[in-house]
Amino acid sequence: MTNEMIYRGRYYNGSRASLVAAAQAAMSDYRFQHVLRVEEMAVRLADRWGVDAELASVAALTHDYAKERSDADFLAKIAEKQLDPDLVNWGNNVWHGIVGAEMVKDELGIQNEDILTAIRQHTTGAPYMTTLSQIIYMADYIEAGRDFPGVEEVRALAFDDLAASVGWQTGHTLAYLIEKRVPVYPGTLLTYNAWSVEK
Ligand code: GDP
Ligand code: FE
Ligand code: FE
Repeated sequence: MTNEMIYRGRYYNGSRASLVAAAQAAMSDYRFQHVLRVEEMAVRLADRWGVDAELASVAALTHDYAKERSDADFLAKIAEKQLDPDLVNWGNNVWHGIVGAEMVKDELGIQNEDILTAIRQHTTGAPYMTTLSQIIYMADYIEAGRDFPGVEEVRALAFDDLAASVGWQTGHTLAYLIEKRVPVYPGTLLTYNAWSVEK
């Protein structure tokens, strides 16, 4: 497992242990174990793709920080921060990244915009994603506890061609949402058009 050694205080003015504790306090043990596995995968991907491991660790440990918050909490934060008014029409799946990043900023004191943007984009992606954002998006999807048809293939792809793996995930997630007949967030469609279409 990754450890305190990768923390140099460049992106987070505290210890890794304090972020781990904040994550643990904010969620069920089941989800906390997922968060630790996302961190492990994110640090491996960061090493592969030349991204700072501390950046990847902080973003991974905080990516689902808000996932178990109430709808009322999210609606209050949307109003407080004057976020896109259309967000009120969505739900936890969309909110916990886009709105959750504001909670990470305000409650955990993480100011780094690259980290906050990676949290914002971790569920829906975005037409433009930094390498860090791609890493968090992928690490969330392929962490060691995930099991779905093709997981081995897309795990290998993330280490071979990160952008192609983003396209793979987005295409499969969109197909899944359509199959289940649940609403697709417009940002997810923009991600699909940018990353999943054969050029
Ligand atoms: P998790 O937080 O670790 O469970 O993973 P994610 O944050 O990536 O995804 C949370 C949920 O959001 C998953 O069930 C996705 O299928 C779902 N999701 C992803 N994109 C969309 C979207 O555009 N619309 C809706 N309604 N759900 C989505
Ligand atoms: Fe999530
Ligand atoms: Fe997650």
